Amino acid sequence: MNSPRSILHLDADAFYASVEQAADSRLRGKAMAVGGETRGVISSASYEARALGVRSAMSTTQAKRLCPNLILVPGDFEKYERFSRLMFAYAYDLTPDVEVCSIDEGYLDLSKQGNGHPRDSAIYLAKVIRENLKITISQGLASTKFCSAVASKLKKPSSFIEVAPGTEREFLAPLPSRWLPGIGKKTESLFAGAGLNLISDVAQMPLKEFERIAGSSASALHSFALGIDPRPIIPASSAPKSFGEQETFSSNSQDEIYILAVLRSMTDRLCRRLRDEGLAARTLSLRIRYKDMEDTMRSESVQEPTPHESDFYPMLQLLLRKAWTRPESLRLVGVRLTNLHTALPEPELGLTGLPQKSAMERLQLAEASDLLRRRYGRKAVLRGHDLWLRKKLSSGEGDGNPLPGPGKN
Ligand SMILES: [Mg+2]
Repeated sequence: MNSPRSILHLDADAFYASVEQAADSRLRGKAMAVGGETRGVISSASYEARALGVRSAMSTTQAKRLCPNLILVPGDFEKYERFSRLMFAYAYDLTPDVEVCSIDEGYLDLSKQGNGHPRDSAIYLAKVIRENLKITISQGLASTKFCSAVASKLKKPSSFIEVAPGTEREFLAPLPSRWLPGIGKKTESLFAGAGLNLISDVAQMPLKEFERIAGSSASALHSFALGIDPRPIIPASSAPKSFGEQETFSSNSQDEIYILAVLRSMTDRLCRRLRDEGLAARTLSLRIRYKDMEDTMRSESVQEPTPHESDFYPMLQLLLRKAWTRPESLRLVGVRLTNLHTALPEPELGLTGLPQKSAMERLQLAEASDLLRRRYGRKAVLRGHDLWLRKKLSSGEGDGNPLPGPGKN
């Protein structure tokens, strides 16, 4: 039998708030939070604020009520991306086998370390990050990804939990079943109805029976509950994750209105993919290719990562004009979304105050149209530019070919 793997999961504590405290000593030791004024919702709260009941996704109004002296800082996502790169640079000092899962979470495979126990590496990593970046991380060390991720989150902040090989199932057994991956509120109540309150309940149920409750994910979830998880560490590829699409026109175009409509419709599809994966993007890059094959690219970033196409619309025209400087027709255009973040918490339901209400409605509208499109096809919900493109194409005066298809790269 192979010797057990040593997988370390690291998860920064209250990342955005901690970075702000690290970057400004006046915020240290204070109840503070990132977010607030513009979105009307807390993105990340310092542990001092958490002690007073402030939570992410809480409305600013409610947070201020709990903690009248709460200091609110607008999000500076460029700074968070910079800290994240520095944090993972220390991880790469230990091993090249690092899987970065999000801005503040990742796995390290420490199995192949020659000298020293992986535990010592974990302690060292937390120490260098604390001393140099002035932020803390919590870590879990185990033989599987799932166990190490759970272990890193059980006793935050500044925690380290080690799960000895062979004790994975015991370790997971007493935890509520919502700790299993992908268990939302709906599945949780479904599980509760079937008496599956704890992970041990899932582990003990025969797989055949569990399949009737959990459907196609039953087998994976059952394995997780038994402490079995052979998923490998996937070291970061050279290019960070991004979503992009491009379209070659069937005949070169110089029609700005048409080109903008194509760009908007691409952006719609890319944002839908973001929302499907629970992500948000901060940077949009627009690429154009002239008919003589010369390429130009321009990028622009929004201040806060967003999953909404309408936040990117104003950029499209601006970037198109910046990129398209020669009086030549275009052969190809492309849009790419980068600097992806886990979607910021959206306001919880039942809140008062205008900003929250409109943010909530916007998200619900986006989700409703995504659902309609999934169920009835892409044309079930059309925006103004989609209608315009359709009309133009059906009248036969289109510069381009039919609407670009879904994601190509
Ligand atoms: Mg975290």
